[in-house]
Amino acid sequence: MAGNSIKIALIGNPNTGKTSVFNQLTGLNQQVGNYPGITVERKAGSCKLSPTVKGQILDLPGTYSLNASSMDENVVIELLMNRNDKDYPDVAVVVTDVENLKRNLLLFTQIKDLEIPTILVINMADRMDKKGITLDIPYLENHLKTRIALVSSRKGQGIAHLKNLILAYSALPTAPCLNASSIDPDYFNNLRKAFPNQLLYKLWLVITQDVNFGMVDRKEMQGTSFTKTKPELKRLQQKETIKRYQFINDVLKVGQTIDHSNAKDLRARLDRVLTHKVFGYLIFLAILMLIFQSIFSWSEIPMNFIDEQFASLSAHISTQLPAGRLNDLVAQGIIPGIGGVVIFIPQIAFLFLFISILEESGYMSRVVFLMDKIMKRFGLSGKSVVPLISGTACAIPAIMSARNIENWRERLITILVTPFVTCSARLPVYTILISLIIPNEYVLGIFNLQGLTLMLLYLLGFSGAILSAWILNKILSIKHKTFFVAEMPNYKLPLLKNVALTVIEKTKAFVFGAGKIILALSVIIWFLGSHGPGDDFKNAEKIITDYGRTYGTDSAKWPDQIAAYQLEHSYIGIAGKTIEPVIRPLGYDWKVGIAIVSSFAAREVFVGTLATIYNIGNTDDEATIRQRMAADVNNETGEKVFNFATGASLLLFYAFAMQCISTLAITKKETNSWTWPLIQLFGMSAFAYVVSLIAYQLLK
Ligand code: GDP
Repeated sequence: MAGNSIKIALIGNPNTGKTSVFNQLTGLNQQVGNYPGITVERKAGSCKLSPTVKGQILDLPGTYSLNASSMDENVVIELLMNRNDKDYPDVAVVVTDVENLKRNLLLFTQIKDLEIPTILVINMADRMDKKGITLDIPYLENHLKTRIALVSSRKGQGIAHLKNLILAYSALPTAPCLNASSIDPDYFNNLRKAFPNQLLYKLWLVITQDVNFGMVDRKEMQGTSFTKTKPELKRLQQKETIKRYQFINDVLKVGQTIDHSNAKDLRARLDRVLTHKVFGYLIFLAILMLIFQSIFSWSEIPMNFIDEQFASLSAHISTQLPAGRLNDLVAQGIIPGIGGVVIFIPQIAFLFLFISILEESGYMSRVVFLMDKIMKRFGLSGKSVVPLISGTACAIPAIMSARNIENWRERLITILVTPFVTCSARLPVYTILISLIIPNEYVLGIFNLQGLTLMLLYLLGFSGAILSAWILNKILSIKHKTFFVAEMPNYKLPLLKNVALTVIEKTKAFVFGAGKIILALSVIIWFLGSHGPGDDFKNAEKIITDYGRTYGTDSAKWPDQIAAYQLEHSYIGIAGKTIEPVIRPLGYDWKVGIAIVSSFAAREVFVGTLATIYNIGNTDDEATIRQRMAADVNNETGEKVFNFATGASLLLFYAFAMQCISTLAITKKETNSWTWPLIQLFGMSAFAYVVSLIAYQLLK
């Protein structure tokens, strides 16, 4: 205990209501971050245990056992093994679900054997009546050598008792309830010789953990008196598990009674429909459509509102501040940059609202079960369904929602391929290009050719994602086996508090995580587009007006022409011209080059940039941009710039290329490394280049 605060570690199997207990204890006093160096989420919070004593709670990732098989479980072990860790708990609170007590107690007995003061929370007490469960708490406390808090985190019952038990943690028994050394004394003798200075059980855990991560092999063990082989260790690990279950069974035989006649089984009936081979998919599809309709239509109003507010804020600031560099930086760089972050909030909030309702209710586990077989073939997980579908709105919340995937390899592949899915930012680009190259005609009387093309592009996006997942699955060498199958929780009414906290937490994570990077990069892109080297950029106004006076051009068009001239001679414009030799084989000239370069910040910039280049002031007026683009002729060949071949090649380029700095930022955040976003950037763009090249060369 440090000062007047007690350090508490919250531990438990997934789906035992650990998060709900955490939320009950801490309310809004939560901080979410990552463990250093890895992508496992670290949740901490604080609460008042008494008027003078504070509890500092660390919510550890959901774990099935201490024999680690995943990164999440590893976090739990590393903390509990290391008394010097600043987070090392004064007291461990193990959360279990009253309906799954037997399975949940396995982890409890393992924690208990670490000789940390341990409290057992038996959660979901509100379901005991319905399920006909009764518990003999004093008997259980006695035989498990612990104190028990019977809790319903849904109803807030038992939380006060739990706090009192925590306050009295120093009086808790620390004796192990079943020591692993009873499993194979001979084995532990060997251990003792090899590593004489550590607690044997901890050592046992470290070694079995290394076995699971594939780090122990016979060679490393040579030179110690420790001679077990990997298969032998696995067998010992199984032996330990069996011993523990025997112990738990014995205790529960007396301590718990279940009257099965009481249990009503709505669950089985619901499961039959929701995981049905046909209806299951249809219901899922219907729910998805409903969700995406709602996300689009509900977000539109707040998004427009945010857009307007930031536009008028920019306008206001630019009149208030004295004209000059600072004014430009704030009004054209920083404020639109912040706006570009804030505008995503409604979509993200709504998406996570729905996802957390689906998850809280228990439905998501059924979907995952349904999709798992299909997705596994491509190296994805059943849980990849959520990100892949969310990607049609925006890759940013979609990539964030991949956090639910426990298996790191599957999660990584999901993150990497999600940007292929056609997001809403591609839509304006598709619309204008399709209208340029595809005639507005009907086939078979009902199918509009332009509409069909759009659908084809969506299909291309999905196929791109699935195909690249399959390739990544073949070449990625990360090994990460998960040993358990996810079990299906009961159906429950979602807890409002849990849903609200998820939405707040995810939104905050986006704003303060990716938001910072998006803002910085938008300012950089703005700077490169509005500054240029040499005199051409500086004297744009004089050059255009002189030219205009000499040749008598329409002076109303001068401001647009000046803007276009400046863009051409800005750093971005120069970049566009520099890359012209590279993109020429795809059928693009330097104007398209500028649009492509600036689209690397965000795709939707494409239309706006072309508008500026084609001397059009009003960027919203797509008809005029289209007419100008349609009329543009290549001076050398005399051919139209936007012919069918160029248009098709550009469409394919935008379908596959990685042109979204925000997505790269979120990938960096979620994978905690620049390697993966760079692979995304170069992999996708190279793929786009090749496909567009082939398309143009074949079609021209
Ligand atoms: P975690 O995976 O262990 O963090 O579990 P959650 O806190 O996310 O809870 C899993 C599910 O159990 C959610 O659907 C919760 O609404 C539900 N739940 C949590 N606590 C209780 C409880 O005390 N009673 C009931 N009936 N359901 C609960």
